[in-house]
Amino acid sequence: VELASVARTSADAPIHAQPAHAPTVRSISCVIPCLNEGANLNALLSSLEETLWATHFHWEIIVVDDGSTDNTVAVAEAWCQLSGFRCISLSRNFGKEAALTAGLQAARGDAVVLLDGDLQHSPSLIAEMLERWQDGAEVVYTVRQERNDEHAFKRMGTRLFYKLVNASQRFELPEDAGDFRLMDRRVVDALLSLPERTRFMKGLYAWVGFKAVALPYTPSPRAQGKSSFNTARLVSLAIDGLTSFSTWPLRLVSVVGLLLALPALLYGIYLVVEHMLVGNPVSGWTTIVVSLMFFMGIQMISTGIVGEYVARIFEEVKGRPLYVVKKVLGQGLDAPQP
Ligand code: UDP
Ligand code: MG
Repeated sequence: VELASVARTSADAPIHAQPAHAPTVRSISCVIPCLNEGANLNALLSSLEETLWATHFHWEIIVVDDGSTDNTVAVAEAWCQLSGFRCISLSRNFGKEAALTAGLQAARGDAVVLLDGDLQHSPSLIAEMLERWQDGAEVVYTVRQERNDEHAFKRMGTRLFYKLVNASQRFELPEDAGDFRLMDRRVVDALLSLPERTRFMKGLYAWVGFKAVALPYTPSPRAQGKSSFNTARLVSLAIDGLTSFSTWPLRLVSVVGLLLALPALLYGIYLVVEHMLVGNPVSGWTTIVVSLMFFMGIQMISTGIVGEYVARIFEEVKGRPLYVVKKVLGQGLDAPQP
């Protein structure tokens, strides 16, 4: 009854009667995608909670269990008894990108902070992120200062990937910018309005734009367990990124095809003319076999590249949901605020 009467008076009042800066407390959501992080979650959640209590914001912490097979859910469940915590358990492993999307969809805060569940992203940086946010930044992303913990091959692959994906587009994927970031509500809503199923998050962040500020940081080593991104998975992620954020590989195929076909045609004409004028017998089986193999190779590669795009179309057209939620625990910001 009281709420209704308040709503009526404020609706009836002229707009300029509202205080310019309504003294509402803003809220933040922290989203943590977790695949088998049971050994890290207690340490992370207690330090994160401490960091958040130290701010003057309302807050919630959303743990997204991405089909963990260890005690991640049990650990999260215990924390969800406390107010402010929420756990979204997916029905199986859908991948980090899907888990992040699930967390973003559940987040209610005016800003959302994404961080890994393995303590590589230190909560101590969040205070600075929030400061930048209050100063007007709509995105605060972190940039790894060094990659000394990675072997040269992986570093080279990363460089190459960013070169390739940034080769031709209006927006740039900042190199070394990870998922550890803060995003304003407007940015989150823009991200969630993107309908695609192949959610290469690093690309989507860049695509939506907004005013971004970079914070340099040095990731800590993973606390427990090991990274689930092996070389094969990283390569597959890179191909996802390339095919969903650029179409130049397709153009490259046409150009290479043209570059090869043209000399072949000219050479063919030359051979026919030479045969008619000079009467040389047609020779060179080796040339034939080698060029045949070469062209077949090029053809297979081209088909493969086109196939990657067809596969993307197939994924999009199926229109399946990105993830399936098994259960939700805790209330997060939906709980009445003190
Ligand atoms: N993760 C996830 N689903 C997956 C793989 C990873 O939710 O299929 C989470 C994982 O629990 C961690 C974060 O994503 O919180 C980063 O993963 P990881 O540490 O394995 O990768 P790296 O740090 O090597 O990039
Ligand atoms: Mg990690």
